[in-house]
Amino acid sequence: MNMRPHKQRLLRWLPDSLLQTRGPSLDGVRYLTFDDGPDPQHTPRLLDLLAEHGVHASFFLVGHRVEHHPELVARMVRDGHLVANHSYSHRAFQAMTLRQQMDEFARTDALLQAFDGQARHRLRTPQGHLDARLLLQCARQSRNIVYWSYDSLDYQKPEHHDFVARLRADPPRSGDIVLMHDDSDRATDALAVLLPEWQRAGHQFRALPGIGP
Ligand SMILES: [Zn+2]
Repeated sequence: MNMRPHKQRLLRWLPDSLLQTRGPSLDGVRYLTFDDGPDPQHTPRLLDLLAEHGVHASFFLVGHRVEHHPELVARMVRDGHLVANHSYSHRAFQAMTLRQQMDEFARTDALLQAFDGQARHRLRTPQGHLDARLLLQCARQSRNIVYWSYDSLDYQKPEHHDFVARLRADPPRSGDIVLMHDDSDRATDALAVLLPEWQRAGHQFRALPGIGP
């Protein structure tokens, strides 16, 4: 199983300000990112776990879920996590016009602004979709898309012990942006085991920096 996709190496020629595949390479710092929340069943446990270990992360949120679970978004901001934009509907971007794609981001930016006061947020498309038109438009508007350098593959629904063993055998490295999902307990269950081990080994976990007003 390849947790370090080749495609990301090709994407590295793009400037970090447009498309980021790795976080700031501070010594020992990894960047956990969670897509597809907030989810009333799973997010509270994840937030409890992160708080217990003093870990800050980045949440790529789906706009219509933000509308339904505002209390979870408020808690993310209060707890010191970064909230970011994972579209409004989470429908496939391949089937959309550029205007529809940008509308998806605009709606969720407006929703998130109510929580963190920021007009713009880091972007991540559903399924990590990228196309030349979208990249060009983001470059023109100085928007920042966040990809990942380490894919936990949690969406393949691995069995708990296998999942823990795989992450333990090849853990995220300094500067890695780690892709996980907040729509099941899979990541939380694995991190409950691994975070204490990784912290003892000197790994630090931070939210990606905000992008300013
Ligand atoms: Zn997603």
